[in-house]
Amino acid sequence: MAKLKQHCSFCGRPENELKLLLTGINGYICDECAERAHELVKEEIAKNKKDFSMKIEDLPRPKQIKEFLDQYVIGQDDAKRYLSVSVYNHYKRLMHKPEKDEVEIEKSNIIMVGATGTGKTLLAKTIARILKVPFSIVDATVLTEAGYVGEDVESILTRLLQVADYDVKAAERGIVFIDEIDKIARKSDNPSITRDVSGEGVQQGLLKLLEGSAVNVPPQGGRKHPEQKLIQVDTKNILFICGGAFDGIEKKIARRLNTQVVGYTTIQKTAHIDRNNLLQYIAPQDLKSFGLIPEIIGRLPVLTYLNPLDKTTLRSILTEPKNSIIRQYRKLFDMDGIKLTFDEDALNYIVDKAVEFNLGARGLRSITEDVMIDAMFELPSSDEKKLRVTLDYAQSKVEKSKAKLLTDAG
Ligand code: ADP
Repeated sequence: MAKLKQHCSFCGRPENELKLLLTGINGYICDECAERAHELVKEEIAKNKKDFSMKIEDLPRPKQIKEFLDQYVIGQDDAKRYLSVSVYNHYKRLMHKPEKDEVEIEKSNIIMVGATGTGKTLLAKTIARILKVPFSIVDATVLTEAGYVGEDVESILTRLLQVADYDVKAAERGIVFIDEIDKIARKSDNPSITRDVSGEGVQQGLLKLLEGSAVNVPPQGGRKHPEQKLIQVDTKNILFICGGAFDGIEKKIARRLNTQVVGYTTIQKTAHIDRNNLLQYIAPQDLKSFGLIPEIIGRLPVLTYLNPLDKTTLRSILTEPKNSIIRQYRKLFDMDGIKLTFDEDALNYIVDKAVEFNLGARGLRSITEDVMIDAMFELPSSDEKKLRVTLDYAQSKVEKSKAKLLTDAG
């Protein structure tokens, strides 16, 4: 019996017209189709790869960056300005070719100090949306000195590598936000009393990253994969933004201000000090008194602060940001065809409760959730097409949930 002629399963041409025909399980592919397929795969992979290239004319200017931040974050103008400038300078630094020019631009890592819930993480997350370089957020609380339970400092770079799809060159231009940096402050003034594996030891490790050096990074993080091959990442061009609450640092600032103003200018100077917001006077030496080592402070030359949130700011946070809490609830109801409105005094009541419970901006969400939970449960299965949240309504729902908390606790 004559042998059947085989065809390429893609273009259909017979074997005798082809240079090569490869055999698969259920079909064949000719050399030309294989080459074309290879090209397509390469194009597709390149298309999906994130583009981190940049030109100076495409870069958002500091003012534009700040305007973008303004849409999501209320107030905190100082922190926004510092952040916008640092990010813009970071881009410029990346484009600068020092070999052509003897001026070398040094990087300006940032440290932001502000009470919890004042918007540090929100600022970092918001800026990440418009960044042209890989960006990751890590938490310093999990870090310990090498050899102890916890994460090594190198793992800070693992997330960045992951975000950059393991493109080392891209990661080396990235930005890392290290949250809760205050948690690695030295625990006591005398470092020799006990081993301080999550404090000074970590700061020493972190220093290496901030200074800029080649660091061996575990690509999957942690110590659970001892077999993983380490990837070398140079941190010279990585911008670090640190944030922390530094609870109690106001006392150190006050003490410094008081001792500074001793002398003939005492009365004049103290008169100008706003005791309700001492953070605005923060200086590097306060970070040192708090327990950061001078070398770390030296590597974080841009120091900025976040203001405490007063009632007016909290009221704005509730409704003004692009994705404010109230807009989010309106959207949720809108999806069920229900029009949700809030009376002004109901909104003020939510703000008052957040202040009363000392919960800051984080409290706004949980209190609004208490107000809305019954309606979110009932209304989708009713014929109701609108809900107006009045002061009475809000009050009754919050009191009900408070009563529930009391009975649960009892
Ligand atoms: P921090 O990192 O300073 O502890 P976050 O940024 O996590 O605080 O803030 C907690 C939440 O509070 C945010 O998700 C946001 O909803 C709200 N929030 C805090 N500060 C602001 C602000 N200035 N503008 C808008 N929302 C804010």
